[in-house]
Amino acid sequence: MSAPVEQRRILATAIPGPRSLELQARRRVAVSAGVGTALPVYVERAGGGILVDVDGNQLIDFGSGIAVTTVGNAAPRVVEAVRRQVEDFTHTCFMITPYEEYVAVCEKLADHTPGRHEKRSALFNSGAEAVENAVKIARSATGRSTVVVFDHAYHGRTNLTMALTAKNLPYKQGFGPFAGDIHRVPMAYPYRWPTGPERCAEEAFAAFVDSVHTQVGEGNVAAVLIEPIQGEGGFIVPPPAYLTAVADWCRENGIVFIADEIQTGFCRTGDWFACDAEGVVPDLVTTAKGMAGGLPLAAVTGRADLMDAVHPGGLGGTYGGNPVACAAALAAIETMEVEDLAGRARSVEGIIRPRLEALSATHPGVIGEIRGRGAMLAIELVTDIDSKAPDGPLAAAVQAACAQQGLVTLTCGTWGNVLRFLPPLSMPDDLLDEGLDLFDGAFGEALSGRGQ
Ligand SMILES: *Cc1c(COP(=O)(O)O)cnc(C)c1O
Repeated sequence: MSAPVEQRRILATAIPGPRSLELQARRRVAVSAGVGTALPVYVERAGGGILVDVDGNQLIDFGSGIAVTTVGNAAPRVVEAVRRQVEDFTHTCFMITPYEEYVAVCEKLADHTPGRHEKRSALFNSGAEAVENAVKIARSATGRSTVVVFDHAYHGRTNLTMALTAKNLPYKQGFGPFAGDIHRVPMAYPYRWPTGPERCAEEAFAAFVDSVHTQVGEGNVAAVLIEPIQGEGGFIVPPPAYLTAVADWCRENGIVFIADEIQTGFCRTGDWFACDAEGVVPDLVTTAKGMAGGLPLAAVTGRADLMDAVHPGGLGGTYGGNPVACAAALAAIETMEVEDLAGRARSVEGIIRPRLEALSATHPGVIGEIRGRGAMLAIELVTDIDSKAPDGPLAAAVQAACAQQGLVTLTCGTWGNVLRFLPPLSMPDDLLDEGLDLFDGAFGEALSGRGQ
């Protein structure tokens, strides 16, 4: 075992440094330009809350590789489990000759996902693949075809999930034609609800019901698919009671309620799943990102009657539930259980949120809203507090200024004007504080750079 990564920020060179620039040059002639990169710093090692690059810089990580390394990078239990599994066997294909690890992951999913009903799971490689399969299951179980999705939704980059995703650039532009029988409705987005946040839950629910009734017909709807807190769309938190109303309405109409918990799941929001905060019990849940400590694994978990409605052989894939990824997931889930990472996510919120409130007070008129839950927090930037015009360029400038100081941050949102905070839950408090100090500095610098 190599020594743990020292939990200290180090700026050894400019960001990116010379070796990263060399690799970036190699990359340009070998890797498709279609694959984007937020920060061309090439990583050599990582752990706790630190990314170590090839030039010896040590960066503070506020992104967790998009909410994946919740338990930390190269987390000790995950490393040990993967090492053991790789030595035992690396693949048989669960559809050919099965193994215990797959079954054990499905047992853990049944334990931790919302609701105490009888459940089944199926495992896949990526979040998009899980979403596609949830739709297959809902259609097969109901004999209906339409899937209802929301403004600002993000569900992946495959053909069906592009169609389910709201935002055109960069996800959809030029990639059509898209899959059909998808109906989009307004999202309950309190900050931008036309009549104000207090009326959002009730009016958004009424608009959703009316849109589905008049434009599709309830009897044609297989599933309603929603992120309980939207991820790529801008960390949009629906108002209290909204998710419950939608889930209840789905039950009354024989429609499968699918919660896409790929970004929110596995302790990120301060509960095992974001639906837990309101006691919402989805019919199907999709999971991926935080589940396996960085190894590719995804799942659909849900009501046994729905999951078993599919004909034998109808679900699967060569690599789905790979044994190494399953071993990693079991170790990551054990870490979450033993270290109470849901509690840790709440304490991280207790550190970050007051700092964002202070930042907003220091720079009035720029931060339209602070929102999110647990260790999934964000600020939405606007050019004007009254018009709420999105300020994407400011978010980009803050992100760039953070990078120069050795702090990795992510943006999101339909207009790219949301800065999000997704630190690994293994980050020590002093590093989190230092990262927030750097963020404050970068924010002020970006504002003065545009003359404010
Ligand atoms: C990331 C994400 C997906 C897609 O997952 P991939 O593993 O990138 O295919 C789907 N839904 C949500 C909510 C996500 O955040």
